Amino acid sequence: MPHPDVMEKLVSLCKRRGFIFQSSEIYGGAGSVWDYGPLGVELKKNLKDRWWHAMVRARDDIEGLDAAILMHPRVWEASGHVAGFTDPMVDCKACKARFRADKLEDAQCPRKPSKHPGEHGDCQLTEPRLFNLMFKTHIGPMEDTASVAYLRPETAQGIYVNFLNVQQASRQKVPFGIAQIGKAFRNEITPGNFIFRTREFEQMEMQFFIDPESDHMQWLEYWKAQRMAWHRSLGLSEDRLLFHQHTDKELAHYARAAFDIQFDFGGTLGFQEIEGVHHRGDFDLGRHQEYSSKRLEYVDQVSNRRYIPFVVETSVGADRTTLAVLVNGYHEEEVPGESEGRVVLKLDPRIAPVKAGIFPLVKKDGMPEFADKLAKELRAKFPVFYDEGGAIGRRYRRQDEVGTPFCLTIDGQTMSDGTLTVRDRDTLAQERVAADRVLEYLSARVL
Ligand code: ATP
Repeated sequence: MPHPDVMEKLVSLCKRRGFIFQSSEIYGGAGSVWDYGPLGVELKKNLKDRWWHAMVRARDDIEGLDAAILMHPRVWEASGHVAGFTDPMVDCKACKARFRADKLEDAQCPRKPSKHPGEHGDCQLTEPRLFNLMFKTHIGPMEDTASVAYLRPETAQGIYVNFLNVQQASRQKVPFGIAQIGKAFRNEITPGNFIFRTREFEQMEMQFFIDPESDHMQWLEYWKAQRMAWHRSLGLSEDRLLFHQHTDKELAHYARAAFDIQFDFGGTLGFQEIEGVHHRGDFDLGRHQEYSSKRLEYVDQVSNRRYIPFVVETSVGADRTTLAVLVNGYHEEEVPGESEGRVVLKLDPRIAPVKAGIFPLVKKDGMPEFADKLAKELRAKFPVFYDEGGAIGRRYRRQDEVGTPFCLTIDGQTMSDGTLTVRDRDTLAQERVAADRVLEYLSARVL
């Protein structure tokens, strides 16, 4: 059965509950730019922390880096972005809308949404023109050609230009990798689908440097498997993930092979790329060596060979992955014994923004004081939410909607025997746990 389209409901939930707001909303909004609210920033940070842990901290063959957004403009000539980071654009003279010429089948005609642009009798599409997606700015007070700079459209180039700095400082030997998380900017022609395609977004990229004379294709397979396992570890369902191999037409001329990890966003969006795992050969380092006239070769201390390494890149969007876990987690379901159903975000407890809701059953008999003290103790380890207002059912419902995996209720029995109720978000099962064991209980499940 195809997965339903939950995007509209998710946009509304994200705004209402403080995950994601439209940028500059009070001024009518900025085009396809979004701000992360209190819960969204925690969710995205948890994803980035998990990536950083898996890719950098838990390994001895990958080093971290945080390169600047602004770089020397020659970087983007060498990388091919100035000449070739373009999308073909068409305008419709009849309805004044603009589309990507290569994605017309994904777009709707504004006059007749059941048709694609160009299919409706009145459409007047222009010939495609190439549009460069890089945002241009100027460094310093003079706005002349000598001062042109670009907002980086990907983080990878910061890694390439620092390849030897990192290798020499960390004394890594090939094969090894460099990883970074950072903002990237693309002046997309047709952004949209919430945070799926935006003009400002975050990437988590890793470039793995390999001896070209070794079995380098094996590393592509290795990274495909590692990265797919990481997405599964976020709780993304098996049937919503697949590899898409780039066809000859899609493959960049320098790439040896390229695979995208796609996630099924449901509805008409369906399967879309969330990560690229690409074998880029020696293209990038070779071009930077040529354009900078600086040697970027690696010297193998054992064999005394000098060479430009091959690169396998893994490149995943932090925002797109955030959207994937939200779409994957969103459920509307019946609640046994209750007339109203519930909306529940079944986020993996380890990435959920709030780990536990803490509720005194009533606002008397020492329950609020007990609950408040417990909340303070737990907050030292992970985010929890204290809520003493309204019926208990409503309080549960509010936490379900933001994906809080556990709710702790302090009731009359707590005051006599020191146990409290732990309610599981997904199974709705409740069990009594001693209050002084709750930290241990939750830590085993949410960290
Ligand atoms: P697409 O075909 O969707 O434009 P791409 O192939 O240009 O993507 P890459 O350059 O491989 O994307 O970027 C790697 C990852 O960065 C993508 O898999 C995606 O998760 C993320 N990404 C790229 N462009 C955007 C964007 N405009 N908004 C949000 N995330 C993006």
